[in-house]
Amino acid sequence: MSFTLAIVGRPNVGKSTLFNRLVGKRLALVDDQPGVTRDLREGEAKLGDLRFTVIDTAGLEDATDDSLQGRMRRLTERAVEMADACLFMIDARAGVTPTDEVFADILRRKGSPVFVAANKAEGMAADAGVMEAYGLGLGDPIRLSAEHGEGLNELYTALMPLA
Ligand code: GDP
Ligand code: MG
Repeated sequence: MSFTLAIVGRPNVGKSTLFNRLVGKRLALVDDQPGVTRDLREGEAKLGDLRFTVIDTAGLEDATDDSLQGRMRRLTERAVEMADACLFMIDARAGVTPTDEVFADILRRKGSPVFVAANKAEGMAADAGVMEAYGLGLGDPIRLSAEHGEGLNELYTALMPLA
């Protein structure tokens, strides 16, 4: 049995970087109905011997500022509904922001498993942000560098029970 993981979080934290790393060139199902915004990307992820479906909440880039919050919320709700589990990503260099707290509130109310990833965690500049991520109340954060491919073993260990 495979599972579906949604990567959620505010723009620019590194969701697509992780998505691309997990999916490589195996980008699969996209919504290509005419007139439908391609705001969720879905691909077949490979992580060690794990195979699963991963959803990236794309399409936030072209949202106008005043609609961004609402759009993020709707996209996140949809991704969470489609997924068996969520990876909630924060930028460890920026630390936990008020927007991150809003996301954490949404995710805390869901029944499905939520993992916290503190991304951009290569180097000591991220240490404080990783500590803050413990305070989200969603379990121990996974220290990740999507760009440098660090922390993937921890991610593997977290996801393995879902397979
Ligand atoms: P998204 O908006 O959440 O999908 O974020 P992106 O994946 O587009 O990444 C936003 C920016 O963060 C890009 O410039 C990435 O190169 C950068 N980035 C992503 N992951 C890391 C990381 O692990 N470390 C650092 N330092 N930068 C990263
Ligand atoms: Mg993205």
